[in-house]
Amino acid sequence: MAYDFDLYVIGAGSGGVRAARFSAGFGARVAIAESRYLGGTCVNVGCVPKKLLVYGAHYAEDFAHAESFGWSAGKAEFDWSTLINNKNHEIQRLNDVYRSLLTNSGVTLHEGHAKLLDPHRVEINGQVYSAEHILIATGGWPQVPEFPGSEHAITSQDAFFLDTLPKRIVVVGGGYIAVEFASIFNGLGADVTQLYRGELFLRGFDGSVRVHLKEELIKHGIDLQFNSDIERIDKQADGSLQLSLKDGRQLNTDCVFYATGRRPMVDDLGLENTQVKLDKNGFIAVDSLYQTNEPSILALGDIIGGVQLTPVALAEGMAVARRLFKPEAYRPVDYNHIATAVFSLPNIGTVGLTEEDARKAGHTLKIFESRFRPMKLSMTDDQERTLMKLVVDADTDRVLGCHMVGPDAGEIVQGLAVALKAGATKQIFDDTIGVHPTAAEEFVTLRTPVAS
Ligand code: FAD
Ligand code: NDP
Repeated sequence: MAYDFDLYVIGAGSGGVRAARFSAGFGARVAIAESRYLGGTCVNVGCVPKKLLVYGAHYAEDFAHAESFGWSAGKAEFDWSTLINNKNHEIQRLNDVYRSLLTNSGVTLHEGHAKLLDPHRVEINGQVYSAEHILIATGGWPQVPEFPGSEHAITSQDAFFLDTLPKRIVVVGGGYIAVEFASIFNGLGADVTQLYRGELFLRGFDGSVRVHLKEELIKHGIDLQFNSDIERIDKQADGSLQLSLKDGRQLNTDCVFYATGRRPMVDDLGLENTQVKLDKNGFIAVDSLYQTNEPSILALGDIIGGVQLTPVALAEGMAVARRLFKPEAYRPVDYNHIATAVFSLPNIGTVGLTEEDARKAGHTLKIFESRFRPMKLSMTDDQERTLMKLVVDADTDRVLGCHMVGPDAGEIVQGLAVALKAGATKQIFDDTIGVHPTAAEEFVTLRTPVAS
């Protein structure tokens, strides 16, 4: 049968755009549908605007430190609308870049909501298109639990577009987004409380990292309240929000920001017209080749509920494009040693196994840890400390994990990921000559394991 396209991609986010562009580059006839914003979550309401806000928030520290280096710039003042307007302009520029990237690579762009009609046909803006392969790359959406007053909560979809910076904000959740936005709002001058339902936030990260970041965020003035959760929110006559916590306490605030995970975006996607199956959490179930239960339909990125990071969606998009249209170049995605950063202030950077997971996996370990006050702070009153940690297999000497909390941890960990991927041993770290004076050199000068 003759199809309109070889590949029809639903969702022009990180994974969809990568798959579409490279498939077209390999000679396929490709169309992509986008209902909301070119570039998807990462470009519009994720990684990019978040990082711009983190940069903005960091100036608070920079101004404070500058005086110790002889600078006096007067009283620093912050204007939220300038930051948001400039951020919006930059995102608009990136939207245009994405449009050019797609059209210049020969991809047909359809702007609108796409719905599957059957395993080979998609409807968009009243038109029907057929394709040999359909790729679902529709990403996710913030998930807020339902409880009385939950409609008063905002999410990351709203936080980037607030008219004013709230004076007081309560951030709920203990994952990436909650921790990052607590730092952003704190740095920009809001009074921040972070509520997390468990004992200690950042479940899944190395234990030392979780404790260290907790201590640093408290030093920065964030009111961390663990074992805390909201039962109801009542809007007051003055517009403020009254929070009733499950432990009976009450809090009053101007804004409640929920960052409690993301659900798969399958709204009105027409999955019922196909044999595509969902997993137990509602994400699209795929095999190791991103193949759904329907032979002509693939899915990748956040919608498959794996590692929800942009570089992972990009790698999956590349793998799909190659497998379909340039099979001789196909390489499966290697999910080992994915480095990641939490852009809190200070950052977390991490790659490889946590100490807890390494022990669970049966490794006998040597742990190397260093905590120090960064040189840049030595002439200031700032008491922030950096943590660096190596998790080493005592039998093979392989470095299993590198973890850091401190300035630029996200930048530093990328190079360490290459070393771990190459199978570096602790001996290789020791034989590496450091770059002096840097914080990063500490990773190659850790000599004495901590007592187990
Ligand atoms: P998306 O980028 O979400 O793209 C899906 C696209 O599909 C969207 O544009 C959507 O509008 C479109 N769509 C949905 N349904 C339809 C339909 N029926 N028809 C047409 N179009 C449709 N990752 C990092 O690596 N680093 C970070 O620093 C980072 N920060 C983040 C911060 C925040 C606040 C958030 C929310 C996420 C962050 N992420 C980060 C995660 C990252 O954004 C995602 O992992 C990534 O965007 C997933 O890409 P994707 O292609 O799967 O989906
Ligand atoms: P996460 O899954 O990282 O964290 C969700 C948090 O919300 C957890 O602390 C979880 O607690 C808590 N939670 C879940 N449900 C509830 C509930 N009903 N009530 C109270 N608390 C709840 O999700 P995020 O929304 O922070 O981010 C989504 C994903 O986006 C991340 O996992 C990451 O993959 C990606 N991302 C990456 C970034 C980066 O690379 N820097 C930045 C931002 C996002 P518990 O641990 O107890 O389950």
